[in-house]
Amino acid sequence: MTLTDRRNRPLQGLRISVTDRCNFRCNYCMPEDVFGTDYRFLARDELLTFEEITRLASLLVERGVRRIRITGGEPLVRRNLDRLVGMLAALPGLQDLSLTTNGSLLPGQAAALAAAGLRRVTVSLDSLDEGVFRSMNGGGAGVADVLRGIEAAVSAGLLPVKVNAVVRRDVNDHTVVDLVRHFRGTGTIVRFIEYMDVGNSNGWSLEEVVPAAEILARISAVFPLEPLEPDHTGEVARRWRLCDGSAEIGVITSVSNPFCASCSRLRLSPEGSLYTCLFAGKGFDLRGLLRQGADDAALGQALDSVWRDRDDQYSRIRSAATTRLPRVEMSHIGG
Ligand code: SAM
Ligand code: SF4
Ligand code: SF4
Repeated sequence: MTLTDRRNRPLQGLRISVTDRCNFRCNYCMPEDVFGTDYRFLARDELLTFEEITRLASLLVERGVRRIRITGGEPLVRRNLDRLVGMLAALPGLQDLSLTTNGSLLPGQAAALAAAGLRRVTVSLDSLDEGVFRSMNGGGAGVADVLRGIEAAVSAGLLPVKVNAVVRRDVNDHTVVDLVRHFRGTGTIVRFIEYMDVGNSNGWSLEEVVPAAEILARISAVFPLEPLEPDHTGEVARRWRLCDGSAEIGVITSVSNPFCASCSRLRLSPEGSLYTCLFAGKGFDLRGLLRQGADDAALGQALDSVWRDRDDQYSRIRSAATTRLPRVEMSHIGG
């Protein structure tokens, strides 16, 4: 079954955020002054159970979803996550199951996650410079902690490992080439993400965005690059290869060259709201339906109508006015 939205975009991907909590405080995502000790995180009974998540995922796979990514907050702080991975991996028709993590807890969990059926991981690492990295993540961890997580993922066969780096002007843009140099020849793919105006708490400004063209120029001045074809339809990263064949890299141009026209993802929040766009102010409450005892037909009907009614294209029409609208936080919906 192919479900299309009002802009004729098919439903293909699902991101499941399993928690709004995180052991880091990246200042562009969960700034400490907002997400401090008195911040009210979701209570345990507000979170969807693994059974509830899997039931929704199964209905969405029946509706065309082929790729699922688990995210958060930090997904590895949710207890027994490998159990959820096993449940999702067993869904017939699912082609890819991956996870985005800050990497700090991977050493203890990578093997169990791989054994449960996880295919790949993306690990966030914004810089190899210790001072720069710690200042960006709120002091949560050092570079070595994340590198150990990446090694654990490689050893567990969660390949290819991708590394995500958010680039902010005058913060870490001078360190992008180091990341390419470090991971060259290892099979790990580094992807540079333009800093986005997600949520309302990070004080985003356009001046801090380093356009992908500038990131690529910095890299190609040291390592000449050639473009690669997209991996699959709906792929958000533009892929490049070092001309010497030693590495693939990617850039995610959400600000300078938005990809709304081919955006094919739904996002499920930890408390069971379905979001049709990363920049949406509000989601569709599925937990209410689930806990009122809705049958699969009623749930399916709700899912169909959410996607059919979808008209989002926030990044394409981004303006000074839209960046002031209330939006879900990145740490809630998971990127
Ligand atoms: N905690 C996990 C992690 O950091 O990988 C998963 C959730 S995190 C919200 C997912 C991704 O979103 C990370 O790669 C993070 O760097 C990125 N991110 C967070 N805030 C962002 C922003 N304002 N602009 C661009 N990317 C952002
Ligand atoms: Fe946590 Fe990931 Fe957000 Fe950093 S980017 S605060 S690791 S959820
Ligand atoms: Fe998709 Fe919304 Fe991002 Fe556009 S702004 S690519 S519709 S999530």
